[in-house]
Amino acid sequence: MVAFEAVIGLEIHAELLTRSKMFCSCPVVDSTQAEPNVAVCPICAGMPGTLPVINRQAVELALRVALALGCQIHPVSVFARKNYFYPDLPKGYQISQYEQPLAVNGILPIETESGWREIRIRRVHLEEDTGKLSHVHADGEVYSLVDLNRAGVPLLEIVSEPDLRSAQEVRAYAQTLRILLRTLQASSGDMEKGALRIEPNISVRPAGSSTLGTRVEIKNLNSFRSLERAVAYQIEVQVGKLSRGEVVEQETVGWDEAQEITFSQRSKEEAHDYRYFPEPDLPPLVVTPEWVESIRAALPELPWERQRRYVEALGLAPAEARLLVSDPALADFFDRVVGALKRAPARMAATWVTGELLARLNEQGQTLEVLRLSPEGFADLLDRTVEGQINLNTAKGVLQEMCMSGKPAVQIIAERGLEQVSDPEWIARIVAQVLRENPAELDKYRSGKSTLFNWFYGQVMRLTRGKANPQMVREELTRCLEDQVRGES
Ligand code: ADP
Ligand code: ZN
Ligand code: MG
Repeated sequence: MVAFEAVIGLEIHAELLTRSKMFCSCPVVDSTQAEPNVAVCPICAGMPGTLPVINRQAVELALRVALALGCQIHPVSVFARKNYFYPDLPKGYQISQYEQPLAVNGILPIETESGWREIRIRRVHLEEDTGKLSHVHADGEVYSLVDLNRAGVPLLEIVSEPDLRSAQEVRAYAQTLRILLRTLQASSGDMEKGALRIEPNISVRPAGSSTLGTRVEIKNLNSFRSLERAVAYQIEVQVGKLSRGEVVEQETVGWDEAQEITFSQRSKEEAHDYRYFPEPDLPPLVVTPEWVESIRAALPELPWERQRRYVEALGLAPAEARLLVSDPALADFFDRVVGALKRAPARMAATWVTGELLARLNEQGQTLEVLRLSPEGFADLLDRTVEGQINLNTAKGVLQEMCMSGKPAVQIIAERGLEQVSDPEWIARIVAQVLRENPAELDKYRSGKSTLFNWFYGQVMRLTRGKANPQMVREELTRCLEDQVRGES
């Protein structure tokens, strides 16, 4: 039997985080929240005689992304009309870029099961989003309504080379790109709101072949889960066809979320179907080298660089580094905690941020932005723990209260009398008391039930309301219990 290999390339559309639309001064509103058609003007409504103007902020954000991907920027790029009839695009064409896009030839590094791989980026270009139709069935009538709030919102299209080989790699690529867009504050990447839409092109060929098979394109996937499943499904379908000696037809399909199958939308379409031609109402887009260099210089640390730094320079576990980097706001918070630490090691901060802090956030359904916890305050809590002022368990409770009340650790520790006590005589007295008051357990311990150690430990901590230095309690308890066992024999 012939082995087959999947070949996948992705087209990803991201709405850019600009204040105004791509070619007019209408504000960009959240189209899932706003009333329909509150952000529309004659330009984005496609009135005859109006003229588009290029949004400088959109170009700037697009350049940030293109430069982060290591693309070559075209000093002059050209907007084109892409013609097709669609009722949510009132002009009857979309302004996009075709022959001379903003940027070409980049790289996105992705982490796969077998290490890092570099996926080539074919092109990055600017275009405009469409409006939204809703189809209404009411009172025996069927009609469609159009909302043009989204029409003309800046869209960035990022097209990869067909370098991906599995559904898992496709997911890793899309997730990494989303993290990048969010790190660069170029797009919200909010897939539920349609701010990031993914279109995989999938083909299958005999393993080892260097020619491309016929591809099927899946339209507008808006979750990583559907992306991975839809790609896996298409690979399976195509492998099935080729194994039976059938052919794959080039087509565009949709993904049926409920049935988890793809369904045909339209057959082969070519660029000439769109009758692209240069947009006569816009001058070529000129990007000066100075502009490019100033944007390049202002790029933040990129997610894959950050991940490497966490592992190599800070010594974090790879899984922790990955988790932190997956949320740029969390990673920023972590970086500020690390910057403020005096005694505690960065690894401890990573464990606490990805453990306790995420747990608090999930529990309270909160985001970092609304949490009443400063990175400096958090660092201070970790330092106090390392210094032995409070023990680990107490520190968790203090963190919880810091998140709720916004009070600094020092105040919570003082108010609740939580300071760890390391007085050896006091600890010895309490250990002695616990052993004296529990003769039955002590007997069992003596006769070999050594797991009771933890029970005695718990009793001591309870009596000290968790304030006793745990290390000292363990030492004292070990010593006293050994004495008991020896006294017996
Ligand atoms: P369009 O879909 O607009 O015609 P392209 O032909 O440039 O655009 O391809 C779009 C995407 O499809 C790119 O990501 C490219 O890598 C991918 N692609 C093209 N041909 C194949 C193929 N035979 N198998 C898998 N992916 C492909
Ligand atoms: Zn407008
Ligand atoms: Mg396509």
